[in-house]
Amino acid sequence: MATGSEHGLFINGEVVEAASGELRDIVEPATGEILGRAAMAGEADVDRAVEAARAALDGPWGRTPPTERSRLLHALGDAVAANRKELAELEARNVGKAISSVKAEVAGATENFRFFASVLGTIGGRSNPIGGSLLSYTLKEPVGVCGQIVPWNYPLLMSVWKLSPALAAGCSVVLKPDPQTPLSVLRVAELAHEVGFPPGAINIVPGDGPGTGAYLVKHPGVDKVAFTGSTRTGGEIMRLCSDPIKRLTLELGGKSPNLVFADANLDDAIPSSVWSIYYAAGQSCEARSRVLVEASMYDEFVSRFAEYAKQLRVGDPLDAETQVGSLISTAHRDRVHGFVERGVAEGAEIVAGGELPDGKGAFYTPTVLANVRNEMEVAQEEIFGPVVTVIPFEDEKDAIRIANDVRYGLFATVWTGDPARGHRVAAKIDSGMVGINMPFTAFPGIPFGGYKQSGFGRELSIETLDLYLETKGVLVSTSPKPFNPFGL
Ligand code: NAD
Repeated sequence: MATGSEHGLFINGEVVEAASGELRDIVEPATGEILGRAAMAGEADVDRAVEAARAALDGPWGRTPPTERSRLLHALGDAVAANRKELAELEARNVGKAISSVKAEVAGATENFRFFASVLGTIGGRSNPIGGSLLSYTLKEPVGVCGQIVPWNYPLLMSVWKLSPALAAGCSVVLKPDPQTPLSVLRVAELAHEVGFPPGAINIVPGDGPGTGAYLVKHPGVDKVAFTGSTRTGGEIMRLCSDPIKRLTLELGGKSPNLVFADANLDDAIPSSVWSIYYAAGQSCEARSRVLVEASMYDEFVSRFAEYAKQLRVGDPLDAETQVGSLISTAHRDRVHGFVERGVAEGAEIVAGGELPDGKGAFYTPTVLANVRNEMEVAQEEIFGPVVTVIPFEDEKDAIRIANDVRYGLFATVWTGDPARGHRVAAKIDSGMVGINMPFTAFPGIPFGGYKQSGFGRELSIETLDLYLETKGVLVSTSPKPFNPFGL
């Protein structure tokens, strides 16, 4: 794809113009330059896309048997792998993220298609004895047309997390990416068409949230909504899904704790904790942005952590050596800096970063805030940038109390040399996922999702399939005699 290229919507197996003709500049956040122009969908385009998705369900896609769906998903995973260089570069330029991390995300996208290609073989009902001459069985059916909405931080991966279980279950999809980052999923939709997905099974309609997104959510032709984004927007979507009532899953924000006990192997815990917040420049829902450290080694930990943070290579997303790229936009970078300034006003101490670098691009220096109390805004609100707060705790009970004293519950990491303590703490933390002595978060097969205000529903796992299926109970009489229930 050449710089300055134009991108249409993807509806009914074709790249098409928006009904309004609108093309919007797509900015490369690391340079501020224009990467290309993309069509922005409006209500008429959503109508067209939903209609195509419904026709696909009533037509060729609805008649595609599970074995063929599996083959198509494998083929799409292979196509993403074969085009990984193009996709990684497109994503790194569009989001500003370091290409080293984006390459891992593209590999994750392939794995995710392959995982759901395989596990769709588990879709099946069951048969129950009821007694007497009654037999029952259940059928699993695709829930229907799915409206899916994803954010800008992992546009490719979040789209694939949503598309793959929906398609595996036999649903058709209308997906709305963030208007700033539509390019990689539009390319994936083209690849899907090339490998043989029938028209209408996958439709991509980039557009604004409150306009196009809300219209898609409310659309009477949409049976289920799956949303990834902020908790505030998730609440709005939940309201929109109440009339008419829709099936809904929400993957929302986080303020995840990273608990480091004094008996941990610090040579492992410190660099891993640095990775856990600064990966993707902190713009991850599961970023471990609250580091909780046993008080007896708080000062040593803060100084060693800050040394690592200062060594991170921040810069050109396309340089293979870069570890932290730019943020999504200068507006978002200024918002992140505002959090840091208010944190300092509340008493936090900057021990690394906290600066707006000179020059072009939306870069922000990896920042460490010490002397933070858990009730401060910087410890409670999702900053969504390369900013970590480090908070001391006295003992295990205190660590769990602070870890849970937040409205979110997406992920938590525990670092300890005592395996029993690791399991004990994992059981008491209110979050959808816990890692013990390892920083990584997302694996196909392991349920990914939130407790509390981090949402509900799970991605990435066999359980996810059920969120795209209806269960129908069928009751059968095997009696040779009529029932005649009223004795008539
Ligand atoms: P956002 O909520 O502002 O936007 C997310 C998406 O929703 C975008 O496509 C946007 O256009 C759309 N949208 C906005 N308002 C809408 C409305 N009224 N109706 C319908 N659609 C609307 O979030 P963001 O700032 O783009 O993304 C960052 C957030 O996403 C963070 O809170 C992050 O934690 C969260 N996130 C969560 C997960 C997870 O799996 N839990 C993964 C990635 C990101």
